[in-house]
This record gives sequence, structure tokens and C-alpha cells, in this order.
Amino acid sequence: MTQELIEKSKKYLWLPFTQMKDYDENPLIIESGEGIKVKDIDGKEYFDGFSSVWLNVHGHRKKELDNAIKKQLNKIAHSTLLGMTNIPATELAEKLVNITPENLTRVFYSDSGAEAMEIALKMAFQYWKNIGKPEKQTFISMNNGYHGDTIGAVSVGSIELFHHVYGPLMFESYKAPVPFVYRSESGNPEICRDECLNQLEQLLIEKHDTIAALSIESMVQGAAGMIVMPEGFLSGVRELCTKYNVLMIVDEVATGFGRTGKMFACEHEGVQPDLMAAGKGITGGYLPVAVTFTTEEIYEAFYDDYSTLKTFFHGHSYTGNQLGCAVAIENLRLFEQDQIVAQVSEEAEHLHKLLLELKDMPSVGDIRQLGFMCGIELVKSKETKESFSLEERMGYKVSLKMRELGMLTRPIGDVIVFMPPLVSTMEDLSSMVNIMKQAIDEVTRSEF
Ligand SMILES: *Cc1c(COP(=O)(O)O)cnc(C)c1O
Repeated sequence: MTQELIEKSKKYLWLPFTQMKDYDENPLIIESGEGIKVKDIDGKEYFDGFSSVWLNVHGHRKKELDNAIKKQLNKIAHSTLLGMTNIPATELAEKLVNITPENLTRVFYSDSGAEAMEIALKMAFQYWKNIGKPEKQTFISMNNGYHGDTIGAVSVGSIELFHHVYGPLMFESYKAPVPFVYRSESGNPEICRDECLNQLEQLLIEKHDTIAALSIESMVQGAAGMIVMPEGFLSGVRELCTKYNVLMIVDEVATGFGRTGKMFACEHEGVQPDLMAAGKGITGGYLPVAVTFTTEEIYEAFYDDYSTLKTFFHGHSYTGNQLGCAVAIENLRLFEQDQIVAQVSEEAEHLHKLLLELKDMPSVGDIRQLGFMCGIELVKSKETKESFSLEERMGYKVSLKMRELGMLTRPIGDVIVFMPPLVSTMEDLSSMVNIMKQAIDEVTRSEF
């Protein structure tokens, strides 16, 4: 039976972000999950070391979350949000507005982080049109940014590996640098930060009249390899956006809902975005719900008689889905009841100490962490910071070794991603870091 399923998976599926040749060599089918572990069809258990790609909060099969969905199912699974609403979508909107930065007062639902970003971009673009400044129609996006895989989100992204192929399909945006301290010349966070802010200001001085908005991930560039922004950078970008009258779109899809030790990562610097995208942890990792938040000022710019055609003409079939919103409401209740954010913030210090134990390994170049969002960059040479070659596939090999040792994660190049479910205990964290350490040691030992 298991072999049959594996053959079927190889025969019929095409998996996201996956070279299927790799899958065929190392297939894996998950059957169930419990707490912070998942189990495959052979009964082998794994720590969910990447929260099922950055989603999971309270663990799998959390009774309260399961029940919230069952309870909602007794009423209705889905009805539309086009021109009407439903009970959970309405209740959830209020709860969300109460936990987001103060100036964000409006909730626009969608189903994925990429959509939430598309919506933010289109809202920003149309906002200026609606208030009579149509010349503001281009964007500034950040080097190494990632905002999802639809064309608009890719246009404001700039991860060479993912985005290069689609170059001709994208709308143009101006790119601004983000400090990457480990690979900077000075290696000094303040110098690195100020250089980037200066370059951004130069760009704004020249182009601000034509710029609708700037898009940026909040505090950590996840897909770029868990690059944590130095203190003062995000707030510096906020100040420049305000100074030059450009809307600030903050992407909290990965960082939101407690991941970095604050409910939203922009709270680390008291930043109030004009538009904010969230997704991933919003349902505790259960169902696809995403949100674009915005201010009353932007909302008002679309509010008029229909004939003015200021309406925001955008929507998706499953927007505001009741099952998703119901589980999101329960997720937020658990956040409060179990004090998840405070606990992540506290345990992150413990995790920091655990990760320091990897620091002396010959192939560990840099360890980056904010809360439960961590990246361990493997390098060929610690001194020169030389990377392994693409052919060596070091990150991939280490991840396969971790899988063998009982933990799942997915590398970004040679950066080992560690993003455990937010309920992981200190003991869980130790076990997971030990697996990581052993895998790095076994795979890279032959190199030195
Ligand atoms: C995952 C992610 C997205 C895309 O979200 P999807 O739900 O996968 O479309 C966008 N931005 C960031 C920062 C992300 O990490």
C-alpha cells in the first residue's frame, strides 16, 4: 500500500518549488501529525522543524482548532464576501484590527500571502489615481525581497534564483538595498544600515514624484536566507517613506503572528505601515487565509458613488471563507490564552544559546535569528566566507540527513532554515538543534 502510493505520487503529481527529479529520488508522503511532529506513511516520525513551511503555531491536531472547524461546519462551510459578509469573517476582522498597529483599521481578505501582496500593490496604485495623483505609479522594492510567486508579487521580488526566468513578464520597479551584515564589506551593522538608507534616500529624492509605494519584508528577509535587518533600518525606511510621500507596504506574511517574538515584527521598531500583508500563521497553519490591512485614509479614497468608478475591483472565490476565519478566531484566542508571543520571546533567548553551540563548527559561517525564525548559513570557508558550489548542494544534503535523523526542514540554498512551531518547548528545541548539529557534522565532515 505505501509503495503503491509512492508510485502514484511520482506518476501524477507536480510539486511546488520542487525539482521532481529530486522528489523521485527521495519521495515522502505525510499521513498524520500530532503536536510538533508529523508522521509519514511508513510510520516514521519527524519534528516539524520548519512549521510545515513557516505556518504552524500550536502544533498539529490542536483540539481547540479542530473543534472550531467542526463547529463552523455545522453552520456553513462557505458563502461569498462579494457584496455581503458572514459571521466569522466579520468577527475576525475586529479581532485582527485590535492586534495590528494602531493606524491599520481595515481588513481585506484573500487566500494566500502572494495575493495579499498583489492586493496591497493594486490598492497603493489605485489610491493615487483615486486622489488625483496618477503620476505616482511605480514601486520601490528591496534587493533580495520575496513576496510570493504571482506575477505582481514576483515583480517586487528580487531573488535571482526564483525570479530571473520571468524577467520579461514583470513590471519594472526600482530596487533599493537591504543591509546584509554578514556579507557586507564593513561587517558593521550601523555602517551597513546607514549606507542602505542613504542610497534609498537618494533614489527617493530623484523619483518620489513617480513612486506609489515601497514594499519591504518586516525585519527579516525570509526567503533570501533569513537575513535579519539591523536595528533602526525598518524604522529608517518608514521615516523616508513619510518624508517623501510614498506609501509603505510591509510584508508580514512570514513574520506575523508571533514568529519573531512580537505579534507583528514591525512592533520591534514601532513601525506603522500604510498597507500590511499577513497570512501563514493567521490560521495556526490550518487553512488558507490571508489579509491585507490598510488605513482609514486609503479606504476613504475608494469610498464614493459607484459611478465614480473608485471601487477596488479585486476579489477571489474563497475570500473570507468561514472555516478559515473560524479557525483563525480560535487561533487568536489561543495566542492570548497561552501567551504565545511572550513565550516565544522568552524561549528565543534560550534558542539563541543553543544555536551558539553550532558557531564553532567548521562549515557554519553565520547564524541569524529573530525569535523562532532562524537561518544557519553553511560555507566552504569560514575565513573567506566562500560558498559551496551549486553542484555540491550542501543545504539540500544536510536537510536530507536531518530527515533521516527525524526532522523536516527545507533549506534556502546553503542556509539551513529552522522555524519550529511556536509551541515548541525548550526540550523540543534542544532535540531539534541536536539533530541539526549532527546532520551538519556528518554531511560536511568529509569536506574538511
Ligand atoms: C510565504 C511568503 C509569501 C507568500 O505567501 P503564500 O501564502 O505562499 O503565497 C509572501 N511573503 C513572504 C515574506 C513570505 O514568506
